[in-house]
Amino acid sequence: VGRQRGAGLGGGHDEREQTLNQMLVEMDGFESNEGVILIAATNRPDVLDPALLRPGRFDRQVVVSTPDLRGRERILQVHTRRTPLAKDVDIAVIAKGTPGFSGADLENLVNEAALQAAKLNKDRLNMSDFEYAKDKVLMGKERRSLVLSDEEKKITAYHEAGHALTAKLLPGSDPVHKVSIIPRGRALGVTMQLPEEDRHGYSRNYLRNNLVILLGGRVAEEIIFTDITTGAGNDIERVTKMARKMVCEWGMSEKIGPQTVGETQQEVFLGREWTQNSAVSAEMARLVDSEIKGLVDEARERCRTLLTENIDALHAIASALLERETISGDEIDILMRGEKLPPFQTDDANDEFKLEPADGPENTEAAQSPDSAAAPAESEKDDAQTEQEAPEAQGETPAEPEKPANGSFPGRWDSFSAPSDRKDDK
Ligand code: ZN
Repeated sequence: VGRQRGAGLGGGHDEREQTLNQMLVEMDGFESNEGVILIAATNRPDVLDPALLRPGRFDRQVVVSTPDLRGRERILQVHTRRTPLAKDVDIAVIAKGTPGFSGADLENLVNEAALQAAKLNKDRLNMSDFEYAKDKVLMGKERRSLVLSDEEKKITAYHEAGHALTAKLLPGSDPVHKVSIIPRGRALGVTMQLPEEDRHGYSRNYLRNNLVILLGGRVAEEIIFTDITTGAGNDIERVTKMARKMVCEWGMSEKIGPQTVGETQQEVFLGREWTQNSAVSAEMARLVDSEIKGLVDEARERCRTLLTENIDALHAIASALLERETISGDEIDILMRGEKLPPFQTDDANDEFKLEPADGPENTEAAQSPDSAAAPAESEKDDAQTEQEAPEAQGETPAEPEKPANGSFPGRWDSFSAPSDRKDDK
């Protein structure tokens, strides 16, 4: 109702505008409407009618942004009020690990965790359920049924290793949360970075580094393989968008300086001033293009240097990915120091999967498969706390039986997709 009057394609006398007129009249009319409090909410403050924003209309304006650490903790407390939690669940740790989540995301997280616990026939939610849910909310659901060829897997592994390694090497970048070559949604692999704290603004250096990280996948492909793939399409799109924003919106180009170039596009029906697109001279357009290209080229060059100088780490991360499918940021640190990763960890995943219907020949392999899913959840819990916990956890549960299975990828993929898919059908 509060949308700007007279804009868009409709006439000026539709009902909505009449309603707004009447409301404005009532709000500052001569008679006082005592006892009436008017509250309104919008997620498009940019298209509000200016009359609504004048003094005396809405006296208080409360901006609701995504919750900060404390906010997330409180929101989680609300949503877990009627959820039975196990003792190992620490709401504060979950809140710390979910920067940028909105209230709805957090609610979704709790829901997904509860669903996961229910799937495993548990009567309480463990921390591992929350970790699972977090990955699902952040990265999308795993598509275990999609079988990749060995070649595709290898390319994906190097691609993601390129992202992860550059993210690790560039100072000030968001820490790498997890790298995975399990297909999720439309992606064949995922490298997930999670900021340590809530971020409210970005520096030019941070953004320049981010361009390098985004290009990391493609550049790794270029270095390792003779040919390149379509897998970097989304990365390239994001690089271009970010570089354009840096130049045109954020004034981060030396040659153009702090000025907005071009209008940001607005939808006609919502918007305003749709006839007033500011003109950009051909010269400026050329300059913008060359500045964008300059940013991207520079990032690509830096990326190539970084990856060639650390080619050993790139190989190590890629082969660890091929072996385990998912590795955590801490495990990448180990690999970058040139050390070997500890063997797969079994853990609470074991009792989870005892409840699985074990049928026939799949039995043995189904028992192994959860480890690949549980290992990251376990190690991921570590990075929320301290690094020292990793060796301890292995000490508790030596994982000898799983080791031989590592090499047999096809079996693991098939066996894993079978039980979980069956459950989804219900
Ligand atoms: Zn990529």
